[in-house]
Amino acid sequence: MNKEESESSSQSAQPPRLALVIPCYNEEDALKQTAVVLEGKVEGLRSEGLIAEDSIIIYVDDGSHDATWQEIVALHGKDPTTSHGIRLAHNKGHQNAVYAGLMKALSVGVDAAVSMDADLQDDPDAIDEMVSRYRQGCEIVYGVRNNRQTDSAFKRGTAHCFYRLMNWMGTETIPDHADFRLMGKRSLQALSRYHEVNLFLRGIVPSLGFKTSEVFYRRSKRVAGKSKYPLKKMIALAVDGLTSFSVKPLSFITGLGCLFTVVGIVMLIYTLVSVATGHAVAGWGSIMCSVWILGGVNLMGMGVLGEYIGRIYMEVKGRPRYIVEEEV
Ligand code: UDP
Ligand code: MG
Repeated sequence: MNKEESESSSQSAQPPRLALVIPCYNEEDALKQTAVVLEGKVEGLRSEGLIAEDSIIIYVDDGSHDATWQEIVALHGKDPTTSHGIRLAHNKGHQNAVYAGLMKALSVGVDAAVSMDADLQDDPDAIDEMVSRYRQGCEIVYGVRNNRQTDSAFKRGTAHCFYRLMNWMGTETIPDHADFRLMGKRSLQALSRYHEVNLFLRGIVPSLGFKTSEVFYRRSKRVAGKSKYPLKKMIALAVDGLTSFSVKPLSFITGLGCLFTVVGIVMLIYTLVSVATGHAVAGWGSIMCSVWILGGVNLMGMGVLGEYIGRIYMEVKGRPRYIVEEEV
């Protein structure tokens, strides 16, 4: 039996040591309730023998400005064996916070990690099924929402268009899956080899391969506090997603540029013929239209190029994604 086979068969032999990874940004209001529910969940899973006794919860404070870190330190003080915390020195965004927590989980030697939001929108009861799928041999188990009623119509509409666009560009994503997922040790190790700064885990994780499965759950309302994903952050995440996996937008712009050039040449021929036959009309409208359309396409093309070049610039610098300031 080779190493990989022995690891995959040990997956089902014993209850796995599990880590729940919770990214928190200004979540002092939600965290109290969330911690009670998650501690209860971990305790329940332990007593049923579904997860190992030394399973843990890792709270990642993503550079919060409120009392989130103090709350995490208090949770650790109450139960140092279960509740752990890391504090990022600066707000680096949800994706980096999740990644930091997953890498921490990997470094302390867990068998699997479940990432979920700090506001209890992801159903903790779905973890039971995720763990049992993992024990049946699935390396990655995606939590998939079977309703999006708690999201605004705008968010539902834009998300739908975004994932269709991702699919059109050839990037595999799991529809209605956010970052509520279980990952086994082998997929975490694979993920640790991704060094890009502009992280889009919803695209990277499906590209890892491995045996996967989906667990459906009902998405609830946020327990407390407000969404930490304003439109600006949503757009930044979408742009990361679109530009991290495909250069199709560039090809699209090139195609559009070609089309406009052909139209321009046809117009030129038409004008020359009109002049030659004495039917030329002095119309500044057509000139203005051409200038504006071509100017627009040019700017669009430069914008898309700029997005890619900007990202290349960030990647080649090879800066760390985040700095851990403190740990408990
Ligand atoms: N979050 C984070 N860093 C950020 C923004 C959000 O760690 O810069 C966390 C947040 O605390 C929550 C999760 O990411 O645990 C999802 O955020 P939120 O619930 O606000 O997003 P929504 O559900 O509204 O899309
Ligand atoms: Mg939320």
